[in-house]
Amino acid sequence: MEAGMHKIVNDTHPSRDIILKMPKIEVHRHLEGTYPIKSLFKMAMKNNLDVPSDIDTFKKTFQFPKNHKPDFLLFLSKFKKFWYKSIDDVKYITLKSVEALADENIFYIELRFNPLHFTELTNLDPCEVTQAIIETGDSAAKKIGLHIRYILTFNRGIQTANEMIHTYKLLHNSDLSRVVGIDLAGDEINYPPELFTPFFDLVKKDGQFRIDIHAGEVTDTNNIWTSIDQLHADRIGHGVSAINDPKLQNVLKEKQIFLAQCITSNYQTGAWEDEPSHPMKDLVESGVPVTIASDDPTIQDSLLTDDYMKAIVNFNWNIDSIIQLNLKSFDSTFLTNQEKDKLKKEYLLSIESFKNKFRL
Ligand SMILES: [Zn+2]
Repeated sequence: MEAGMHKIVNDTHPSRDIILKMPKIEVHRHLEGTYPIKSLFKMAMKNNLDVPSDIDTFKKTFQFPKNHKPDFLLFLSKFKKFWYKSIDDVKYITLKSVEALADENIFYIELRFNPLHFTELTNLDPCEVTQAIIETGDSAAKKIGLHIRYILTFNRGIQTANEMIHTYKLLHNSDLSRVVGIDLAGDEINYPPELFTPFFDLVKKDGQFRIDIHAGEVTDTNNIWTSIDQLHADRIGHGVSAINDPKLQNVLKEKQIFLAQCITSNYQTGAWEDEPSHPMKDLVESGVPVTIASDDPTIQDSLLTDDYMKAIVNFNWNIDSIIQLNLKSFDSTFLTNQEKDKLKKEYLLSIESFKNKFRL
């Protein structure tokens, strides 16, 4: 059950329509989990894929079912790799995904993708895929006035550290100047962070990218500690277990390592099964750096807007709480300090016009 969304909304809470229009910061979203369902359906039909031919059944098949109990494996099973037949498919679905970011007023995004996701069942070249996604994303973002950067995801269940090193070196044949980070994703239970130390030592030594590690999502804080101590993590994906470790919280505060937390995703994967008591509230209130993110909106059938609403309703926050969180979230980004300052000023202006528009 999506507990948060069914709680009675206090009249003083802003409506979802208003929150939809609010300028947003998003540092934890997977391209592979954010395809607009209509575009995905269109592409599947064009490619004659063996999928339901009516969109409602299609939608149900490829999204986490509404009102289903948390289920990590079911969640992961919704990610498919059979969509693409050509590089044009990769460009098409990237274009539609980035265009859709305008619908919920994303102001700045660090969009992550795993180049190998697109090549595993095709004969596409990972460098060509990387280039195509970045160029298409940049051009769409420019048209809609969105600020965008990219993060390259490596999947711990698919590659060893040495294989990651090989792919990482190979990807340098693409123009990576718009890429700001390297991400470790996938099954953290069976593939703990320490297995990937050689790869992240190399990324750290190169100094070209910041490091983002999915950790403490469905495990205790050992994986978060190791991600910081051995993988040089600059930011942690989820890190919900940090709520149980005050010593770790102090380190996160001291080093300003942000936890990018995703209320809906955390519920569906079983990382945190009760939305109203999601640890984000207590972590934020005790000064731990946290940013609110969506993860995989299409799989979840839920937008970043819905995560904002859940925070507002469940934590009794108001619009200003979210604005403050977003302003602080600029420090969670992998931009340079100069870029952060510039964007923060621009963000404040867009917040001002948002507030004026809705007389907030
Ligand atoms: Zn993620």
